[in-house]
Amino acid sequence: MKFDAVYYEPDCLSYTLGAQLKEQFCGLPWIPIESHNSIKEMQEKPNSDFGRMKRNLIIGIRKTHKYVENHKVSDYLVPYTSSGCTAMCLYCYLVCNYNKCAYLRLFVNREQMLDRLIKKSLKSIQPLTFEIGSNSDLVLENTITQNLLYTIPRFVEEGRGKLTFPTKFHMVEPLLDLKHEGKMIFRMSVNPQSIISKIELGTSSLRQRIRAVNEMCEAGYPCGLLIAPVILTDDWKKLYTELLEELESGLSARMKKEMFLEIILMTYSYVHRAINQDAFPGTADLYNQELMTGRGRGRYCYRPEARAEAEVFLRAEVNRILGDVQILYIS
Ligand code: SF4
Repeated sequence: MKFDAVYYEPDCLSYTLGAQLKEQFCGLPWIPIESHNSIKEMQEKPNSDFGRMKRNLIIGIRKTHKYVENHKVSDYLVPYTSSGCTAMCLYCYLVCNYNKCAYLRLFVNREQMLDRLIKKSLKSIQPLTFEIGSNSDLVLENTITQNLLYTIPRFVEEGRGKLTFPTKFHMVEPLLDLKHEGKMIFRMSVNPQSIISKIELGTSSLRQRIRAVNEMCEAGYPCGLLIAPVILTDDWKKLYTELLEELESGLSARMKKEMFLEIILMTYSYVHRAINQDAFPGTADLYNQELMTGRGRGRYCYRPEARAEAEVFLRAEVNRILGDVQILYIS
């Protein structure tokens, strides 16, 4: 991964990971900042610079550690070792939170974050599942920080319950030999290749993702697929049928037997539209006035009739093509 510059909070250098990153990126300019949360120089840039801004690496110390209850695959969403991403999916949910400052931020106080997570896991009466990848893509982050190699074995050894994260990347090779004892639920996000090429800019191809999830399943990790976000393009029925057929032929027998599915329809926002129009002129406009409706605070989602049609279609096609695979939810 190539970066242009590193913006960093100077205190980071006293952490092990901070020192490691300093050495790793010693050839780049290092620009001190007061806080990763407000880099004036970045905030003042025009939307058209969105892609270029993502070529910077931001290094800071995470100060907010609030766990948010969740009732899907996990019990809590945990702010963890990174936020933002170097990829540029045109609908990226992180843009709602960070606007054009959705670049990759790495937080060096991982020992503190994992200590807290382990403590919380041990305090609970029931074993809990913690989602650690809701703010970034940890497989991508791991290629820079090796944070999953730090997190998984330590949580397995000292914690209770499970961890989980989703990804759109294939670089799982370093995870395959880790001791995980089934406590790490791996979730691969998939979409038709034409959507990946035109909309999920900078992520791994469908074929690479299928290979990666097969490998993780073979390594004994509990695995699932997220068909997400489902985008209702003009030819969406054809595209998603083809996707399911590709999954049927590309997934290993073990994966097809053990996996679960999550299906999430796309949400979009006014902020996405504004950034995409300036930063990626000529790309598809994901806003569809006929099919979408407001959902508060400048957000859009598909209208109930469109959602209902998609749900019926996808359930039937999953069943026809993949058999009785468990669909955890369609939202
Ligand atoms: S891979 Fe995930 S975090 Fe990165 S841009 Fe795409 S949706 Fe956002």
